[in-house]
Amino acid sequence: MSITYDYKGRSVVITGGAKGIGLAAAKRFHSSGANVSLWDMDEGRLNEVKDNFSGKIDTQVVDVTKWDSVNAAAENSFKSIGGADILVNSAGIAGPNFKTWEYPIEEWMKVVDIDLNGTFLCCRALVPFMRENKYGRIVNIASIAGKEGNPNAAPYSAAKAGVIGLTKSLGKELADMNITVNCITPAAVRTEIFDQISQEHIDFMLSKIPIGRFGTVDEIANLITWLSSEECSFSTGGVFDISGGRATY
Ligand code: NAD
Repeated sequence: MSITYDYKGRSVVITGGAKGIGLAAAKRFHSSGANVSLWDMDEGRLNEVKDNFSGKIDTQVVDVTKWDSVNAAAENSFKSIGGADILVNSAGIAGPNFKTWEYPIEEWMKVVDIDLNGTFLCCRALVPFMRENKYGRIVNIASIAGKEGNPNAAPYSAAKAGVIGLTKSLGKELADMNITVNCITPAAVRTEIFDQISQEHIDFMLSKIPIGRFGTVDEIANLITWLSSEECSFSTGGVFDISGGRATY
């Protein structure tokens, strides 16, 4: 039985919300009374989610790497859900697995662009509204890879380390404005992102988790919804571990 938070009247933007962790978080927010807007570039899946969602939900087709696209989505979401009290940056890709010296250049750029620059652009678009509103909660989905550096996943590890740095900087900049910025660093969770990763790398990630299993999207959504709550008021710029014991720091 999950805890229900009081999110009535709160507006939540979730990037990467058509699938996986973002979608699980969307369900928790929605069942807690929030008005939710899902941002994703996968239009087909967004439509499917909208059709099957148990309630009203806003969806925006967005490419988080494009400033114009992010800005337009922000405007549309404001009209549709009444603002953006909470931003969850979950859009991301893993990229393929190669040694760094063999990593395809285009693929490197793509991973960093989506995972790091996309997170920046969404914060860039929504923080001014939060400042005006004198309230905000931002949760960035980084990764254990950003703390530890996974071999054969250098752009992903580097981008997620960048998300941790961005979280710490922005958290301090907004610390006296009733806006918190935190990130989480999950170990592996079986979602469609696994389709991008080699079986060898999946086995490696599992072997590193002392609890001996993958996390679940609901376990990750639990932490996201707590970090996004009003109750979580004295943590900002924080890096919250959720790695089945892999990282004990
Ligand atoms: P997922 O593939 O299920 O969902 C990611 C979503 O992001 C997809 O719906 C995809 O369409 C969307 N997306 C990708 N590029 C986009 C873009 N340019 N613009 C807008 N949307 C875009 O993956 P997930 O497992 O739910 O991952 C969510 C987040 O959690 C990612 O940032 C990922 O790096 C992070 N994470 C995942 C795991 C894991 O093992 N699943 C572990 C640690 C961190």
